Amino acid sequence: MRVITEPSELSTELDGVRKSGQSIGFVPTMGYLHAGHLSLFNIARTQNDVVVVSIFVNPTQFGANEDLDRYPRDFEADQALCEASNVDILFCPSVDGMYPDGLHANDKISVGEMSTKLCGRFRPGHFDGVTTIMAKFFTIVGSCRCYLGKKDAQQVLILQKLVAERYPSINIVTCPTIRENGGLALSSRNAYLSQENHTSALSIYLALDACARGIESGTNDIDSLCAQACTTLESAGLSVQYCELVDRSTLDHVPTLNASGEYLLCVAVMAGTTRLIDNFFIDVVNGSATVDRGIDATNMDGLQENIATEAPHA
Ligand code: AMP
Repeated sequence: MRVITEPSELSTELDGVRKSGQSIGFVPTMGYLHAGHLSLFNIARTQNDVVVVSIFVNPTQFGANEDLDRYPRDFEADQALCEASNVDILFCPSVDGMYPDGLHANDKISVGEMSTKLCGRFRPGHFDGVTTIMAKFFTIVGSCRCYLGKKDAQQVLILQKLVAERYPSINIVTCPTIRENGGLALSSRNAYLSQENHTSALSIYLALDACARGIESGTNDIDSLCAQACTTLESAGLSVQYCELVDRSTLDHVPTLNASGEYLLCVAVMAGTTRLIDNFFIDVVNGSATVDRGIDATNMDGLQENIATEAPHA
């Protein structure tokens, strides 16, 4: 595995890879790797000749009072996990390398309204930071498949919009949410959780699951289901920021289901001082709902079947 820190060196290397007819799978991360990240590497490995993983804790997607300084980091462990996953290139740029004109340079990329909804309401500017850094990555990496986890569903939907608008040669592959036994979605931020917070956080999956069961059994009054979910979460000691069903194309609130539609059941809570998000993708066809609850990390059998590849927009 090669470790590259200079953006220009990665660009030159990947131009050569493409010229030789090889395909590139790119997995952007912020490091402190866990089985959720490794599932993305694994999927990228099966679909591409060359797998590139980036580790970069992007300052512009953190708010002033957020956890940029204490975001967990362990480069040596991450490097070993990438080696063990047969990653070909680990790209670890510096902040100066990615922001040569400074963090406040006038080069912000935004997809607009979608970035201000759901998490955007509680983390103003967060998704503009995500789209700005991903635009830089897409320019450096070039034509590739880019692997993103459904765990961060709003990020996926926003980056799909970014790619559709500006990067026709990038093909986004969305990968299932990987959960620990008990249902909590794996996240680098779980490292912050005390035992008590962790126990409380187990109610997130239970609340989403109860809501999804209601939808599967034909309940149409989504707001009532979500209100019950909020009660479950608050009773477990979590503070709910939002818990709602939205339309995946707009992120607009959906109070009652249509006979057909593509929805996201999504939640954000505070467990102590740690912010946690989770979701289920829900597709309704002729009144019948299919719910994607993700995959248990201890049983990854369904991993390869559960992948949605978007055709390139070329
Ligand atoms: P992060 O390092 O948190 O920025 O995440 C890097 C990528 O890994 C993003 O595409 C995330 O959506 C994805 N990811 C994080 N946690 C999980 C998980 N539990 N299951 C699947 N993908 C994940």
